[in-house]
Amino acid sequence: MDTTWPTVGELTRRPADWRDLALCAETDPEMFFPDQGEPSGPAKRVCAACQVRAECLQYALDRGERFGVWGGLSERERRVLARQPNPARRCPAHGKALAGGPVLWHCPAGPLGHSVTAADLEDAAEAAMLRRAAA
Ligand code: SF4
Ligand SMILES: [Zn+2]
Repeated sequence: MDTTWPTVGELTRRPADWRDLALCAETDPEMFFPDQGEPSGPAKRVCAACQVRAECLQYALDRGERFGVWGGLSERERRVLARQPNPARRCPAHGKALAGGPVLWHCPAGPLGHSVTAADLEDAAEAAMLRRAAA
């Protein structure tokens, strides 16, 4: 019998410390802090393939990070996102009110809760739409 307990990251489907999975750690960090007039495209392409993009972007939004590319967005793009409304949301799996946002939320269901990303919410909304269309 397998008696290995799941880690927090496995239970929440997200790493306990997202920095451990940061793809930028394997590249040139300066790429993520381009000087004025320098392109941010190369950094954004790395972010697009990074599995902790939501965690990174939420972290930068929470801290009001003023410089660099975080979670695939430049400082200006993060400012625009931070000004958007962040309406109350519910977990598609448990119906519980979610905390956080606008790109990463926490659902309090279960002993440790779990993370919900904007992509999770979009997928759930699309699935609900398909179910309604099929009914
Ligand atoms: S999203 Fe981009 S900046 Fe954030 S950890 Fe991943 S590669 Fe680094
Ligand atoms: Zn939930």
